[in-house]
Amino acid sequence: MDSGIKIGRIFGIDIFLHWSLLIIVALITASLGMIAFPNWHPDWPAWLAWSTGAIAAVLLVASILFHEMSHALVGRRWGMHVPRITLFLFGGMAHLESDAPEWRAEFWMAIAGPLASLVLGFALLTAGNIAAGPVEAQALDDPQAYLASLSPLATVLLWLGTINIILALFNMVPGFPLDGGRVLRAIVWGVTGDIRKATHAASMLGQLFGWYLIANGVLMVLGVSVPLFGTGLVGGLWLIFIGWFINRLAVTGYQQLLTQRALTGIPVSRLMQTGTQSAGPTLTLDRLVDEILLPRGQRAVPIEEDNRLRGLVSLEDIRRIDRNEWANTPASTVMTPRDQLRTLAPEADLEEALRLLGSSGFNQAPVVYQDQLLGMLRREDLLHWLALHDKD
Ligand SMILES: [Zn+2]
Repeated sequence: MDSGIKIGRIFGIDIFLHWSLLIIVALITASLGMIAFPNWHPDWPAWLAWSTGAIAAVLLVASILFHEMSHALVGRRWGMHVPRITLFLFGGMAHLESDAPEWRAEFWMAIAGPLASLVLGFALLTAGNIAAGPVEAQALDDPQAYLASLSPLATVLLWLGTINIILALFNMVPGFPLDGGRVLRAIVWGVTGDIRKATHAASMLGQLFGWYLIANGVLMVLGVSVPLFGTGLVGGLWLIFIGWFINRLAVTGYQQLLTQRALTGIPVSRLMQTGTQSAGPTLTLDRLVDEILLPRGQRAVPIEEDNRLRGLVSLEDIRRIDRNEWANTPASTVMTPRDQLRTLAPEADLEEALRLLGSSGFNQAPVVYQDQLLGMLRREDLLHWLALHDKD
């Protein structure tokens, strides 16, 4: 979900579209153009049903952006940094750099999205009613004829308004990762003062809701008609997929919090390996392998000169060079140079280290103080620490 193309910047927040969004736009266009609109408007030619469907689908994406934007802007008012919003298969996601500082921030930020969708939904319904014009008495007796009489504009507005209200209600289901789950978490956090207990409760309800959707989806696939969702193979599979996704996020959201809490405040210096053997920039690769990497079991060798860190040579760097060339290749030609290395300060905490290792793709990071190498922090040591410290 981190990939996607940037389509613009609003209020200083980068807006990204993930390719999976194309699937949902195509699905909605197809279901409106082939099923819903031809049902409501038997007299519409196919091109009109399809093009109105496509416009409605794109406007739905815009409403999701509106929803996410309200999360982001309210979050910013509470001092949270929201660098980007990604729109993807299941809607949108406002990316936070950190968790909410207090329960009130979490509460207002979480509830802002559904409130925005609700307000937008009612505004669209009102506009749709105005566009539809006055309803004549006989239209009430024959809703089918009334629907057929609506213009494309009124049709889109009324559909979009309804969908936005449904979106708001769905998002208020009180299970993490849905907005309602975050609202619930904020309230439990406010009442008990214990964010872990609050996240646990919201996560359990989120998992339960995920299983509920999966169960409904399975029944639909088996041809049973379930309340709210109806029946149908495609709808059933879709529901199973959404339920599974919500369930996964509910589980990982809680684990992430445990991880964060196990790592926050523990300095890197406590976990770093200090006995790491380094080498000079002129040492050739064959000696680097034979004298350091193999006998010491190191996965990387820091390159130092005049007691200053110059770079890092990893096993992967060496594998890129033909074995016959190892004896003529100095370490400096294959190393990742200092200015491209992601390094850690000894007083940085393990949470920051985990984020750095995650985003850099390296398995270890040099711990550096004023250009001097103090030690190496390895991913495996972090994972060991977690295995020991994030019980329950
Ligand atoms: Zn939301």
